[in-house]
Amino acid sequence: MSTFEELLDSWDGEQAVIHRDRESGGWIFICMHSTQLGPAAGGTRLKVYETPAEGLRDAMRLSAGMTAKLAVADLGLGGGKAVLAMPKIPQGQERTALLHRYGDTVASLGGGFITSSDIGTGELDMDVIAERTDHVFGRSKARGGAGDPGPFTAVGVFHGLKASVAHVHGSDDLSGRTVLVQGVGSVGTALAELLARDGAVVLVADVDAERAETVAAAVGGSAVGAEHAIATECDVYAPCALGATLSTESVPQLRCRIVAGSANNQLAQPDAAELLRAAGILYAPDYVINAGGAIAINFLELNDRSLSDVDVALAKIGDTLGEIYARAESEGITTAAAADALAASRLS
Ligand code: NAD
Repeated sequence: MSTFEELLDSWDGEQAVIHRDRESGGWIFICMHSTQLGPAAGGTRLKVYETPAEGLRDAMRLSAGMTAKLAVADLGLGGGKAVLAMPKIPQGQERTALLHRYGDTVASLGGGFITSSDIGTGELDMDVIAERTDHVFGRSKARGGAGDPGPFTAVGVFHGLKASVAHVHGSDDLSGRTVLVQGVGSVGTALAELLARDGAVVLVADVDAERAETVAAAVGGSAVGAEHAIATECDVYAPCALGATLSTESVPQLRCRIVAGSANNQLAQPDAAELLRAAGILYAPDYVINAGGAIAINFLELNDRSLSDVDVALAKIGDTLGEIYARAESEGITTAAAADALAASRLS
């Protein structure tokens, strides 16, 4: 098990703020990985960890991912992440008090770190944090925010998916193409609707079988058992549930030409990207295709831009993926490596 000291020594980020929250018995970690392109931005994860060091490790790792994601999204933002590592998930007044203390810590950074929601937090939590600092986005519509980012993320995935289909088949026409959407929550449901409207044959899978049936019926598609999602024959597999579904075990089972979905950290091991390439399966790098929510919220809440500006920016996700695919082909590298190279070139 690593100590804080070992973790900090091995991290390539700029600044980590560690706050012992005595009132809750938990820890607040704010990792500002890079401010090279602008203030470090990233979500706030509220979670119970086995040890505080695990929380710090998560914040460090996720903040580095945000640096690459926001560099490719070209938003003038650096990468950061916060983790509230708590002994239990607080509710009610305890939660409000924790979020106020956390908001004060964010405020103390003077805009060097800007946060939004992540696993364990939502728009109502952002509203509470906003009572203490302006450096928060992803607030509810009632409090002047952009609301749920899921539908915006879905629009970005839709454009990215069409660009992927165009790369493989020479046309982005989805009519008659089968897309399997794994996970029909906030992003997956909106994506299934967009796909169906564009003529795709939509298959949906969810651990909540009733939800899968409901969404399938609403979009004129079919439900597939959650356990069969990976091995179901389709043109596009769109993972929109949990991460790490692409592994050395699962890739050989895929029966699709394209993987294009919103889930974070889809590659369980880096080797999975090479396996996908060898199998002739085009992989849309997760942090490129799923940036729509971050782009929209940033435009609407931080920069006062219009919904039509957001539409243009979300469509650009397809163009960016097109560039990444061309680079991967010409350099003989995986699409994941080509995305990392694009991020690195923006940061150099
Ligand atoms: P959500 O919680 O609203 O929905 C997830 C859905 O997946 C739920 O319906 C759940 O029942 C289902 N699910 C869970 N495990 C499953 C499994 N093993 N097989 C099939 N279905 C399963 O989440 P969301 O906001 O729609 O996000 C989906 C994914 O996209 C997550 O990985 C998230 O991190 C990522 N993401 C979301 C956004 C956003 O704007 N919401 C932005 C970027 C990335």
